[in-house]
Amino acid sequence: MSYKNFPMVPRVVFGRGSFNQLSEIITPKRLNPDAPFIFLVDDVFKNNAWITSRIPLSYDDKIIYISADEEPKTSQVDELVEDIIVTTKERPSGIIGIGGGTLLDLAKAVSIMLTNEGEAKDYQGWDLVKNPAIYHVGIPTISGTGAEVSRTTVLTGPTKKLGINSDFTPFDQVILDSELTKDVPTNQWFYTGMDCFIHCAESLNGTYLNTFSETYGNMAYDLCKEIFLDNTLSDVGSQEKLMMASWHGGMSIVYSQVGIAHAMSYGLSYLLGTKHGIGNCIVFDHLEEYYPKEVALFKTMKSKHNIMLPQGICSNLTDEDFDIMIGVALGLGPLWENALGNNWKKIMTAKKLKELYQKM
Ligand code: NAD
Ligand code: ZN
Repeated sequence: MSYKNFPMVPRVVFGRGSFNQLSEIITPKRLNPDAPFIFLVDDVFKNNAWITSRIPLSYDDKIIYISADEEPKTSQVDELVEDIIVTTKERPSGIIGIGGGTLLDLAKAVSIMLTNEGEAKDYQGWDLVKNPAIYHVGIPTISGTGAEVSRTTVLTGPTKKLGINSDFTPFDQVILDSELTKDVPTNQWFYTGMDCFIHCAESLNGTYLNTFSETYGNMAYDLCKEIFLDNTLSDVGSQEKLMMASWHGGMSIVYSQVGIAHAMSYGLSYLLGTKHGIGNCIVFDHLEEYYPKEVALFKTMKSKHNIMLPQGICSNLTDEDFDIMIGVALGLGPLWENALGNNWKKIMTAKKLKELYQKM
C-alpha cells in the first residue's frame, strides 16, 4: 500500500482584524520593485473602503476587481494571465486572492499559469502541473468551500468542469479574518455554509473514509450543526466557527472525496451555470435515499433560516440537455466510487440519474 503524500498550506493567520497584517506578511516576499503584487478582489468590494483601504499597494502593485457572478473559467484564467504578463515589468512577486471560492480559485489558477506554459485547460485533472506556482495568498471573505485549504482550483473549461489538482495548487499563505465575512447576505451564507456541511456528509459517508478525513469531518459537521441550529451563538462566534468549519471540511476532503451532491451539482453548473453552493443545496435536498440522516438535518436547517430553494430548474430540459448533465456527472468517477463503492456503475445508471435530475 502506498499512501498519498499531500502538501498543506504552510502558513496561516487566524484572528479578527488579522487582515491588517497583510502588509507585514507579504512585504518580505517582494522580489524587487518591478515585480508587483497583484490583488484579485471580488468586485462586490469595489466601493467598500473598509476593505480596499487596507490593501497595501506599493510600487507597481495593482488591484484587479473580478465579478463572482459566474464561476471561474479556464479562458478567464488565460486572459488574466495574459493581461498580467503584458502589463507588468517582471513576473509578479505574488497573487493575492480576496473573496469567496470564486476569487480564491482564480488566484490559485493564475499563480500556476504564470509559471506553466500553455492554457489552463491543459492542466485540468490530477498532477499535470510541472512548475511551482508563484507565491499566492488566499483571504476568504465568505466561509464554506474549503477552497482556502484545498489542493484544487475548480475551473469550467471548454469540455469539462474539473479542478487543477496539484501539489502546487495550495496557497502559500492564508489569512483567516472572520470579520471580512460579516456582510455576507443570509441566502449566500446558507448556500456556501451548506457546501461545507455537504463536504462533511459526503466525506463521512464515503467508502474512502479514513481516520484523517473522519476526524476533520466530524469537527466540521458538529460546528455546522452548532452554527445552523443553535440560537445561542453570537454573530462573531458564528462567523469564526464557520470559518474553521470550512477549513476542517476542506481538510476532510483532502484525504477522501466528495460524493453524489457534488457530482450532480457539477452537471447543473456545466449546463445551466448553477453556482456551486446553491447547486449543491438543490441537489442535496433530493438525496435522502443516499444520505438520510444528513438530508433530514439539512431540511431542518433550511426551514429554520427560511431558505427557499429554486424548484423545477430541470423541468424544461430536453433529452440532449439531460445527456450533457449526466455525462458531466458520471465522468467524475472517483466521486461516485467514494459514494457508492466499486460497483457504482451498476447502482448509478444514466436512467437513475435522470430520474433524480427530473425531481429538481
Ligand atoms: P463565491 O465566491 O462565488 O461568492 C458568492 C457570492 O458572495 C458572490 O456574489 C460574492 O460577491 C459574494 N460575497 C463574497 N464575500 C462577500 C462578503 N464578505 N460580503 C458580501 N458578499 C460577499 O461563492 P463561494 O460559494 O465561496 O465559492 C463558489 C466557488 O468555489 C465555485 O466556483 C466552486 O467551484 C468553488 N469551490 C472550490 C473549491 C476548492 O476546493 N477549490 C471547493 C468548493 C467550491
Ligand atoms: Zn463543494
